[in-house]
Amino acid sequence: MDLTRGLCHEEFIAAITHLEEMVSHPSAAGVCRQILAVGLESLSPAQLAVYEGYIWPNLLERCATCPKMVPAGVGYCPVCAIEYDN
Ligand SMILES: [Zn+2]
Repeated sequence: MDLTRGLCHEEFIAAITHLEEMVSHPSAAGVCRQILAVGLESLSPAQLAVYEGYIWPNLLERCATCPKMVPAGVGYCPVCAIEYDN
C-alpha cells in the first residue's frame, strides 16, 4: 500500500491540511494533526487504521472539470488550472 498515493511531500502535506477540516471520523482530524506535527511514521497501528479508512481514500479527488485525480483541496488539475485561472 502506497500510504501517500504517489503524492510528493508538499502535495501530501497540503492534502492532509485540507482533510484535517473535512474528515468526518472523530479520530481522523487528530490523526491529521499528528501527521502534520510529527509525520506519518509516528502513527500507532490504531491510528494507521483510521488513516487507511478515513484519510487515505480522500487524499486524491477528481479535478473539478475533468476525470484526472488531484491532491485533496487543489480543485483543478494543472491542465484545467491553466484554462480556468484566466
Ligand atoms: Zn482537469
